[in-house]
Amino acid sequence: MCDNIILEIDTKNLISDTKMFFGPEREKNAKRVQLSNILYLPSMQNKILQVKADTTTTGTNVYQTFVVFNDVIILLDRAEEDMVRFKGPSGFFYYFKPVDIDSDVRVSCSCLDFYYRFAVFDDKNKALFGKAPPPYIKKTNRPYVNPFKTPGVCKHTIALINRLKNRKFFSKY
Ligand SMILES: [Zn+2]
Repeated sequence: MCDNIILEIDTKNLISDTKMFFGPEREKNAKRVQLSNILYLPSMQNKILQVKADTTTTGTNVYQTFVVFNDVIILLDRAEEDMVRFKGPSGFFYYFKPVDIDSDVRVSCSCLDFYYRFAVFDDKNKALFGKAPPPYIKKTNRPYVNPFKTPGVCKHTIALINRLKNRKFFSKY
């Protein structure tokens, strides 16, 4: 993959690239991730829906995981039958049309797997939510953690996406 090409990336490709380049472990391990304090933060004006969760597998190391959707039309009432409802931080209910799993998404997670392996390359693909880490500088003889420079997601992010799939946030997958 060329460094200079900026591509946007969707939810489906983030997960399938992770599997293709790094094996099926993350998808498998995502089943053991516990999610709590899930917050749905709508920005009606900017058409952005930010979902934040505390994620953990051990109960002791807790990470902050984000999945952020762009171009989402968020309303205060169910204008169409297939709209999905969520409760915002204010306690109000909001409605939106399920997002296409092929549409752009941004993600982030505070775990080391995400930070060291994926954040820089997700950023290059406009799929990183938040600030990019400094460019990776190789200091040891250990192999590169992401030799193909491919974007991807950690097990926590996969777990949050799976939760949103179950909540019918996506129109197809
Ligand atoms: Zn993570």
